[in-house]
Amino acid sequence: MINEVRVRFAPSPTGPLHIGGVRTALYNFLFARHFGGKFIIRIEDTDQSRFVPGAEEYIKESLAWLKIIPDEGFDGEGPHKPYHQSERKETYLQYAEKLIKENKAYIAFDTPEELEEMRIRMKSEDNPMPQYSSRSRGKMKNSLTLSKAEVDKRIHAGEKYVIRLLVPDNNEVRFKDLIRGWIHVASDTLDDKILVKSDGLPTYHLANVVDDHLMGITHVIRGEEWLPSTPLHILLYQYLNWENSLPQFAHLPLLLKPEGKGKLSKRDGDKYGFPVIPIDWTDPDSGEKSPGFRERGYLSDAMVNFLALLGWNPGTEQEIFSLDELTRVFSMDRINKAGAKFDIEKAKWFNQQYIKFMPDEDLGSVLHADLMDRGIKTDQNYATSVATAFRDRITFFNELYEKSIYFFVRPESYDEKIIKKRWTPQVVEFLKHYSASLKQINENFTGEDAKEALQNVLNNLGLSMGSVMQVLRVVITGEGSGIDLMQTIELLGAEEASYRMELAIVKLS
Ligand code: GLU
Repeated sequence: MINEVRVRFAPSPTGPLHIGGVRTALYNFLFARHFGGKFIIRIEDTDQSRFVPGAEEYIKESLAWLKIIPDEGFDGEGPHKPYHQSERKETYLQYAEKLIKENKAYIAFDTPEELEEMRIRMKSEDNPMPQYSSRSRGKMKNSLTLSKAEVDKRIHAGEKYVIRLLVPDNNEVRFKDLIRGWIHVASDTLDDKILVKSDGLPTYHLANVVDDHLMGITHVIRGEEWLPSTPLHILLYQYLNWENSLPQFAHLPLLLKPEGKGKLSKRDGDKYGFPVIPIDWTDPDSGEKSPGFRERGYLSDAMVNFLALLGWNPGTEQEIFSLDELTRVFSMDRINKAGAKFDIEKAKWFNQQYIKFMPDEDLGSVLHADLMDRGIKTDQNYATSVATAFRDRITFFNELYEKSIYFFVRPESYDEKIIKKRWTPQVVEFLKHYSASLKQINENFTGEDAKEALQNVLNNLGLSMGSVMQVLRVVITGEGSGIDLMQTIELLGAEEASYRMELAIVKLS
């Protein structure tokens, strides 16, 4: 029988979730949904020194915004609760003790100074970064070198100690990564990693492996930065006799800087002025604020679409995918090995596309709500007509209001440069005639009618289109550019347009 797919996203609440972490969560979510499996969120909060208040809530809010919803975890619901590692301490210790009993782990008392002394003493050309391993452990203060009585005495006296993994000599650790293929590592290159720290809490390695096993995780899908830790995890599975239920591993490609070299960092965001985290974050210590995609006006569906394609490809030219569609077509074998360049222009493009495909009424509601928030009352249908006219000109919703405000508020000032250059007695004459002729047009007039009336007035006065168009736009909108002017007049209505012309004559003459 094939097991139910069970995957997990296991963030540590050490700060705002990086956009790469969001992508990891998304891929786990898509993979689980694709196979009708379960997506679990486990909070890896055993490193108390790195705990940041608010970080867990941040992760929760970010994923909820993107509709990456877990089946288990977070609020503690599910068959394997608790889902916070800080609440599972006893479980990890049991396994650490079992490993010690079976001579697969040992106790070590070395102080930071002693460790540093060992590194200096053993450093040589062929060992530039000495580790706590088979080469050094025989000369250190641990339960392998000290007598049992001595070890007990030290523990009794309250001396601090850690529990280390006993890495075997001359062994090869092998595992198959679903994205990278077989990986072989000589055990001699691994160090005797700490499993339990002196504060009695497990390290990431022990807690992660124990929980993945106990929670029935079938696939570990995580960032490439965890690849070097995986041989150690494999050893732990072997030592704990859990090889039969070893999960499959998939290490996702890195998100790269816009230039394509090096890992995308917060500093790149600052340098280029784009967000690298999903939602706004304020550092609880320094008060420093970091901008999020949500507050910058990115739509959650566009964001998901953008992230899905950052490291995965559908094998076709298609680029626009809803979350449902993604769950249908997502597959591990189309995840790229190479790092994915972070291209903010592409993110913007996705946002534009999602705005393009939005139903008219929804786009209208966005503008209407924005206007209401600013105390500008207007008809919903009118807002919808204006919003749709600007649909192709915006990347973010806030531009809708900024670009179309003159449809709701009469201009208070006029583009000075253009007025200075173009405001002539002929123009005033033209405006008088055109405003009078618009007034006579019936209610259901269109941009075409406005254009015809314009042409007639110009013919009568012997003026060219070029001599009046720019100033006409400024008079009606206050600005030198915008959507098609005849369409503008159609939307505003003939009466309002002619009123604005008369108003300008009074104000500018
Ligand atoms: N707690 C680790 C992190 O913060 C989880 C890595 C993993 O998925 O194994 O990324």
